[in-house]
Amino acid sequence: MVTAALPVGLSDWRGAPRVQALNDRVPNASGRFVLCWLQQALRARDNPVIDASIRLGNALSLPVLVYHGVREDYPYASDRLHHFILGASRDLGTGCRDRGFACVHHVDRAGHREKGLVHRLGAEAAAIVLEDQPTFVARWQSDRVAARTAVPVYAVNSACLVPPALLSDDIRGRSSFLRRHEPERANWMEADEAVPDVSAYAGPLPFSPDALDTCDLDALVAALAIDHSLPVSDMHPAGRPAAEARLRRLVTEVLPGYASARNDATRADGASGLSPYLHFGVLGPREIMAAVTAAEAGSKHKAKFADELLGWREWFHYQARALAAPERYDRIAGWAVETLGRHAGDPRPELETLDALVHGETRDQTWNACQKQFLLDGWMHNNLRMYWCKRLIAMTPSPEAAWATACYLNDRLSLDGRDPSTYGNISAIFAGSPSDRERPIYGRVAVRGDGSTRRREGGDEWLATAAARPVTRLTIPAEVPVDPYLTGEPTV
Ligand SMILES: Cc1cc2nc3c(=O)[nH]c(=O)nc-3n(C[C@H](O)[C@H](O)[C@H](O)COP(=O)(O)OP(=O)(O)OC[C@H]3O[C@@H](n4cnc5c(N)ncnc54)[C@H](O)[C@@H]3O)c2cc1C
Repeated sequence: MVTAALPVGLSDWRGAPRVQALNDRVPNASGRFVLCWLQQALRARDNPVIDASIRLGNALSLPVLVYHGVREDYPYASDRLHHFILGASRDLGTGCRDRGFACVHHVDRAGHREKGLVHRLGAEAAAIVLEDQPTFVARWQSDRVAARTAVPVYAVNSACLVPPALLSDDIRGRSSFLRRHEPERANWMEADEAVPDVSAYAGPLPFSPDALDTCDLDALVAALAIDHSLPVSDMHPAGRPAAEARLRRLVTEVLPGYASARNDATRADGASGLSPYLHFGVLGPREIMAAVTAAEAGSKHKAKFADELLGWREWFHYQARALAAPERYDRIAGWAVETLGRHAGDPRPELETLDALVHGETRDQTWNACQKQFLLDGWMHNNLRMYWCKRLIAMTPSPEAAWATACYLNDRLSLDGRDPSTYGNISAIFAGSPSDRERPIYGRVAVRGDGSTRRREGGDEWLATAAARPVTRLTIPAEVPVDPYLTGEPTV
């Protein structure tokens, strides 16, 4: 744990609780810019990582250089993920230039390899500002850069409205979390945008950036060595205009009925569909909450939405920060590990192959309807996710295999996967409240039926149609892969 003091520019910023020094180096006096390395928060405005970089740049009289790069070899790289990321990255670049600072991109590929680019950019910087992201490769990458670089590295939380570090470290349950979190929310609702004192960086670079705003993104993605069997999601178009349209739809169509419609998977307008844009930071929680607060909708709908976006999402972010590996099975409650372990040897008559699971071709029609949303839309309705996850415990050979399969399907297929909410929710499904009854396979872990969808008017027909959607066939590994960053050194 590094306890280095924050420098002027960050220490005197009201957003200082978002910032953590990852090493104790001093700024490079000959640095030509402050490097703002974005990994996931792909928005130009209302982005605390960028605002912290500008504040530090102003204090050092240096311009900010925003950098975003994508490699081919991060886990589950596919047309779906690359297309969404690059569309967001392109609009990030335009937005940065509109705000008066430079943003450069690199898409790593054959003929355009840039080994150690962040380190090379960092060597020319006075300091590096990056994201405080607790899951997937971001945390591993940040720690590695901080250990190896000669310049100071500051990690900034941009994913949450309330900086998690502001809350004490010892919160164990969601109700205690809410007692601490709710009173803080109003303090973070003001947009706090920094203006650069220095004109945009136009000096030399150690690489030749990609011009995402003028290139053909589809052709670029098609030429990469990534998984082309997973297609782009039509339901979630890439980029900032699509995210803004989704936010407008939330305010005008979804929010007025949200509290009652949100659980109805048969309705297309019951929920916001914002999670992919939140995961990749195309929209931030402050901007969404500002739109919700100003909307013409009843207070019960606004309160329900705030409970999901802030009460649940930020609770899982808070939990993930405290865990060495939020993605691991051993995070689930001890009683659930014990009861599931005791039933690990039970006969499992509903076992399915990985191929049937991936393609939503199991013997369970409701499960297939759920899975086809992940497979075809890159997103799944919340109510269906609960059934989908619970049933995997019976459809896979062991509780650990069920966990790994749930993470694999979620992370590979869903645009909002690889997130603190992914592993936090899967963990909550594996170990919600214990049931009074001991059952085969599940032990005291409560089971879940599909009545909440099937009992709705037209529910049976909706499920039958959703389960019968034709699928595209994906390449399937021989077994569920173990994420490389859980077992050792990832290649990124
Ligand atoms: C097994 C399982 C796996 C899940 N995996 C993910 C995941 O990988 N990524 C992810 O973002 N969410 C995940 N969720 C939570 C939730 O299902 C999705 O956030 C939600 O369905 C996204 O749709 P929406 O944006 O229309 O939600 P809305 O109902 O419109 O909610 C608005 C926002 O609130 C947040 N939110 C809503 N419900 C939850 C919740 N239960 N937990 C945390 N945040 C929530 C999301 O950011 C969401 O975009 C999972 C839930 C379960 C049960």
